Amino acid sequence: MLKTLRQIARIGNVSQNPPTPAADSPAALHAAIWQILGRALCLRLVDAASCNACELELSALGNPYYNLEGHGIRFVASPRHADVLLVTGPIGTNMVAAVKRTWDAMPDPKRLVAVGDCAACGGVFGRSYAALGALSEVLPVDLTIPGCPPSPTAVLRGLLAVAARNVAG
Ligand code: SF4
Repeated sequence: MLKTLRQIARIGNVSQNPPTPAADSPAALHAAIWQILGRALCLRLVDAASCNACELELSALGNPYYNLEGHGIRFVASPRHADVLLVTGPIGTNMVAAVKRTWDAMPDPKRLVAVGDCAACGGVFGRSYAALGALSEVLPVDLTIPGCPPSPTAVLRGLLAVAARNVAG
């Protein structure tokens, strides 16, 4: 113990001191952060009977390589915290109510994005007794990101387009 204390006294504080804040109240700090980073974009995902490959690409989007959170974009657990609803899959009839309820629970302004060919037009599944075949059959879609599945870069491009529209109002 004595040895450890002596070592601490000899070496001192090797970690860096935190930077001096530009302002001292949390509200002022938040305002400064928003000014630098811009608006955050919160996403909610609903899988409406996809094959899960679209989800794998969306999951890959969370890799550090794409630095999603570094750009202020993140997935949230509750639709009440979401700005954008991403929907994958050919809209299975059993998922129609879930998509509508999620959309209704989101606050305005909000955007609806069909991710992948299935959500755009039914894709390889098409339209059947089990699926409506397109998200636009349920709700007005703001943006479609084509691909089977779309790459993380394609999704990111779409999200940036949506973010730009959100800023424009
Ligand atoms: S678009 Fe392709 S990858 Fe995405 S859910 Fe449909 S079949 Fe699967």
